[in-house]
Amino acid sequence: MHLVYYLFAFVFGSAIGSFLNVLIYRLPRQISIVAPHSFCPKCKKPIRWYENIPIISFAILKGRCSNCQSRISLRYPIVEAVTGLLFVYALSRYGLGYNFFFIAFFFSGLIVIAFIDFSFQVIPDLISIPGIFLGIIFQAINGNFIVGLFGMLFGGGMIYFIRVIGGKVYKKEVMGLGDVYLTAMIGAFVGFPFILPAIFIGALVGAVLGVLYIISTAQNRESPIPFGPFLSLGGMAVVIFEPYVYKLFALLGIYL
Ligand SMILES: [Zn+2]
Repeated sequence: MHLVYYLFAFVFGSAIGSFLNVLIYRLPRQISIVAPHSFCPKCKKPIRWYENIPIISFAILKGRCSNCQSRISLRYPIVEAVTGLLFVYALSRYGLGYNFFFIAFFFSGLIVIAFIDFSFQVIPDLISIPGIFLGIIFQAINGNFIVGLFGMLFGGGMIYFIRVIGGKVYKKEVMGLGDVYLTAMIGAFVGFPFILPAIFIGALVGAVLGVLYIISTAQNRESPIPFGPFLSLGGMAVVIFEPYVYKLFALLGIYL
């Protein structure tokens, strides 16, 4: 495919990333997504269109509000750049067809969920539940309805099981229902058995970073560590490294 297509995919992706930043800020604060225009979180000054160009504006403004000079979170250009790159990947992998848009939605939804769960320990159902249905539709139109259905049931079921058992053993919530829906969404999109390495990667990265976090901050084990960002990472990793996941299964004697 011509390089121009990839450039367009990056520009499109970073513009979507700019919208994802709006969702990340507004969904957990229950601010309307459409009503107020973008504003500085500090001084509330409306952000002009030319101050809202993905990545570029952040660089020109040197990461500060043009009015009150307060720092703009690095999250903004990072989400824009990462979304842009993921859209380039999706285009290279699926070409310009409906699959591109399904996977672009999958990546976008996971980015929003990861950042919101990281900061607020809540996973927006508004994304995960429609995501479950979109994942199943994505699989169905590719002739993999059962694969998607099993992935959804297995992913959601496994986390639900941990939630029930963990609740009984620890007498507190170890996994939220949000984690159940999120894993069901990832399972629907990646299918069975790919949901297994997705959960495994998420749990592994989460455990390693969790231990480092506890050691570095000397927190006790009671401090909550959200699982959503790591599950999201696992879901993305399994899609991006799919050929390697196939090889991994083959090493275990499972040929898919
Ligand atoms: Zn400001």
